[in-house]
Amino acid sequence: MADESYNPFETAQAQFDKVAELLELDSGTKELLRNPLREYHFSIPVRMDSGEVQVFRGFRVLHNDARGPGKGGIRFHPQETVNTVRALAMWMTWKCALVDIPLGGGKGGVVCDPHNLSAREQEQLCRGWVRQLSRDVGPLRDVPAPDVMTNAQHMLWMLDEFETIHGARYPGFITGKPVGMGGSLGRTEATGYGVVYTVREALKNMNIKPEETTASVQGFGNVAQYAIDLYQQLGGKVISASYWDQEDQKGYTFKKEAGFNMDELWPSTDKFGGINKNKAKELGYDILDGRAWIEQDVDILIPAALENEINKTNVHKIGKNVKIIAEGANGPTTIEADETIQKRDIFMIPDFLANAGGVTCSYFEQVQSNMNFFWAKDEVLNKLDTQMTNAFHAVVELAKKKKIYMRDAAYVIAIDRVAHASNARGWV
Ligand code: NAD
Repeated sequence: MADESYNPFETAQAQFDKVAELLELDSGTKELLRNPLREYHFSIPVRMDSGEVQVFRGFRVLHNDARGPGKGGIRFHPQETVNTVRALAMWMTWKCALVDIPLGGGKGGVVCDPHNLSAREQEQLCRGWVRQLSRDVGPLRDVPAPDVMTNAQHMLWMLDEFETIHGARYPGFITGKPVGMGGSLGRTEATGYGVVYTVREALKNMNIKPEETTASVQGFGNVAQYAIDLYQQLGGKVISASYWDQEDQKGYTFKKEAGFNMDELWPSTDKFGGINKNKAKELGYDILDGRAWIEQDVDILIPAALENEINKTNVHKIGKNVKIIAEGANGPTTIEADETIQKRDIFMIPDFLANAGGVTCSYFEQVQSNMNFFWAKDEVLNKLDTQMTNAFHAVVELAKKKKIYMRDAAYVIAIDRVAHASNARGWV
């Protein structure tokens, strides 16, 4: 996101075009699937604590809902653009299709920096977002969720506004709600754990024991923290992770050769995935440059921050022993960098497979909310493991059978399913 000239939607379309050729899609299907079906751009006026009104820019993009209602998070980010939202909406369509859940792809965003907004201002922003869209989202149309810098509290404010407008309870309107208020147990862990279920299967295929491996992670937010937690439970050792330091306005990597201890790190993290670097130093972690996460001598890299983070400027710095890249973030690898990774024969677990645990658990949350009957955490995580493991092996089998790159194989499965649904409905 740091490079303003980078357009993630162009990346998403280029990835689609390549696979559309492979699948020999007809021109109508291609045209339909390479663009969003609908998008909304709107203004959200908020009365700030100062008494002044500030107007924020909001978006919601519905890429495709042939397989079911739209599904996708809402980001709060100062550099949010509609092209980022479009790309993320398209990736959601493929992701839901790939893990075979009956949902389409959507995404939303607001250009804002919640670090600089009080809780009351954030509540007004959430309610304003829903007011602008209340007719075009909902449990049967398009179901939002949290994403970068939004959380369960934001979702609950949005739910409350939606229910106030529609005059009834609709717990299936939004996911990522607090547990006890329609949220699912396991959702907090779901994306990071999902990443590691796929890493575990990849290691199994390579005949490597997790306890003989090390990893480096970009990001230390929700996805990164739970990926680190489960990977270490399996016996692996995370030796470094990076984060964005809000105070210094720069990234840092913190490193410990002996491996991370999440129990000692968790109390020093903030809700934005930042870490108190002085406390980390006291705990024996070295503080390095933010870009150093990618150069570490590890077996596994997990980019779990933002898009465009593995690119032509740093792809050559990837350590020579790296065997697996599991993309926790959405779109972390640019097309040029992807070519280099493919040439180096590093096993790629592409974003819309690796991080699909979040949306899969969101789907479980929606199902539970609609039934008003909630499952135990183990049941949720076991169902999640099954869904992720099945999706992983389907991609590996196709990649082997057709001798294609993992990302391409995942796209072939996902795009074929969405094209089929759009054709079967008679849209194209
Ligand atoms: P988060 O806001 O909890 O964490 C983001 C992390 O990235 C923070 O630690 C932040 O400090 C770090 N970061 C930001 N810029 C950085 C930089 N330049 N260098 C190093 N670190 C940087 O967000 P999250 O929910 O963990 O999401 C991370 C990624 O995973 C995003 O791409 C998101 O779209 C994707 N994702 C999230 C979920 C989910 O369920 N949370 C699901 C699927 C995909």
